[in-house]
Amino acid sequence: MKESILVINCGSSSLKFAILANAGQDTLVEGIADRLGSDESSITFKYDGQKSQIPLKDSSHKNAVTHIKQWLNEHPAIESTLVGIGHRVVHGGETFSQSVLINQDVIDGIKDCAQFAPLHNPAHTKGIEIAFELFSGLPQVAVFDTAFHQTLTPEQYLYPIPMHFYREHHFRKYGFHGTSFRYISQKLAQVAKGSDQQGVLVAHLGNGASTCAIHHGQSSDTSMGITPLEGLMMGTRSGSLDPSLLSFISQAENISADEALEILYKKSGLLGVSERSNDCRTLEEAMDSGDQKAKLALDMFAARTAKHLVSVAITLDSIDHLVFTGGIGENSHYVRRTICHYLKAFNIRIDSTLNDNAPRGEIANISSTDSKTDVWIIPTNEEFMIALDTIRLIQH
Ligand code: ADP
Repeated sequence: MKESILVINCGSSSLKFAILANAGQDTLVEGIADRLGSDESSITFKYDGQKSQIPLKDSSHKNAVTHIKQWLNEHPAIESTLVGIGHRVVHGGETFSQSVLINQDVIDGIKDCAQFAPLHNPAHTKGIEIAFELFSGLPQVAVFDTAFHQTLTPEQYLYPIPMHFYREHHFRKYGFHGTSFRYISQKLAQVAKGSDQQGVLVAHLGNGASTCAIHHGQSSDTSMGITPLEGLMMGTRSGSLDPSLLSFISQAENISADEALEILYKKSGLLGVSERSNDCRTLEEAMDSGDQKAKLALDMFAARTAKHLVSVAITLDSIDHLVFTGGIGENSHYVRRTICHYLKAFNIRIDSTLNDNAPRGEIANISSTDSKTDVWIIPTNEEFMIALDTIRLIQH
């Protein structure tokens, strides 16, 4: 068997993992430890077409990684192929513009970036430290969601606020979903030769959602900002709005600014508008049964996505390709159709038969013959990208 990589995405209360072999192409096992820190935590392994769930008496992150190690001990044919560990890290600030082999300086650098990702980065460093302890001797790599967007120019990444906030505190746009956008850019170049020398728009639409303009293979603008709250309307996040609303909401509800921000993070977006769910599939079913608020939420989601696609497109010479990805982008023909309806002035058109019948989990070109832009569905694969970066870096 070829070399394999353990990919870890360590969050504050969950830890997702996968072992990928054959240069990231084959997922041997994957799983999640969730509700960590609670009485109901468990770890699930998906292996060989079977799912097994084990309750975790000790709900610590360390115990979750210990279970992964134990599972590997029980599967020596896989354990013997393991050559490295790749960690997903949300925020790399201005320090990390690409993936890196982890040493103490890197861990300190990730800790320094925690001011902008107070829930994520500390969880990542915890995951890294535990992995070093339990898998001593295995090289580890950090892959950052922000890194791909470090090519933005100051016109795009600066906020129009007093410049000392940037100079002293690094308040600027960072952008996220970079690993997904990088994967899409490379995958597109394989199916659309020459696209790495063209203008590409990508809509990554999942629970979190953002758009990215890719000019000649490099990110030139993106909709998310200093945090993943800016830009598109999302599952529970509002996306961009007039910042004055923050103080209006806190006054109206007699709550602090932080509590008002929590409403914009957790109770807004599709959930806030539909007053039903943050889940696109649930809302489509509700819309089909006549729920007008569900339809409004989905239509607003589509309108705002179109708006933020156009907004980032100003950094391109031409819009040669538009790619939909993420759970909603890959699966919702209603959302794709509605977004493209809003983009008709830009001569971006899809073929409704191709759009409605796009095969699940596959790359598809859904543009109509009169579209100036090629419109694609490309399933994203961040774990693959993390495994590939890990292999590349540990071989040097
Ligand atoms: P995350 O940001 O958590 O990775 P995903 O990329 O998995 O999110 O996307 C989750 C979203 O994708 C949910 O809103 C879900 O309803 C939506 N989704 C998944 N499958 C479908 C489907 N067949 N039709 C419509 N929406 C779907």
